[in-house]
Amino acid sequence: MIDTYKHKGMRQKLVQIIREKGIHDINVLNAIEKVPRHFFFDSSFLKFAYEDNAFPIGAGQTISQPYTVAFQTELLQVTKGTKVLEIGTGSGYQACVLAEIGAKVFSIERQKMLFDKTLKFLPTLGYNIKLFYGDGYKGIPAYAPFDRILVTAGAPVIPEALLEQLKPGGILVVPVGGGNVQIMTTVVKTSGHEYIKKEHGTFRFVPLLEDKAYD
Ligand code: SAH
Repeated sequence: MIDTYKHKGMRQKLVQIIREKGIHDINVLNAIEKVPRHFFFDSSFLKFAYEDNAFPIGAGQTISQPYTVAFQTELLQVTKGTKVLEIGTGSGYQACVLAEIGAKVFSIERQKMLFDKTLKFLPTLGYNIKLFYGDGYKGIPAYAPFDRILVTAGAPVIPEALLEQLKPGGILVVPVGGGNVQIMTTVVKTSGHEYIKKEHGTFRFVPLLEDKAYD
């Protein structure tokens, strides 16, 4: 797949839309402008790549809406070198936006088919992202602690393991809610076991699944 001037122009328009919706973090806007979102789509769906919408990526999962990716990334307050754990790799798009900002990205996915597809695909984009197959509720203890943790699926409750794997001063961004609608929530770990929780409006995500048998 190639990235043409037309695609770049479409991304600039997308960034404009996202900015008008209230995203100001220049690192986030620059990353959305750089990552070729159409590479994450099958060729027959290319024309949808630069609309500000979520889109099916197979296996009942979706690539998040660009505005949602930008909103979560802004809340995460990432700069060069930030160590980030993402729960729900999916297409890998969000992970690439983080990597583009310069974050050191670890990402975990429980859907084997998606995991295999993204594991093969991401290196072709030149990003160095560490992908793991497993249950995001457990985080990745072997690589903890993390500066930031980002959950990209709707969590019925805030997973305890993720709070534990956050550094003091670290931020967890997680859409909380088991139904159709989630409340975007940030949790700042102020010290050992002290947390400050804030809510940032409603969003819709596919569910963070809890069963142990990965499919
Ligand atoms: N960040 C993705 C969007 C993914 S949608 C992107 O940029 O494309 C949410 C993803 O979370 C789905 O791929 C789903 O399979 C995955 N997921 C759901 N429950 C999970 C769990 N317990 N652990 C890890 N991944 C999970």
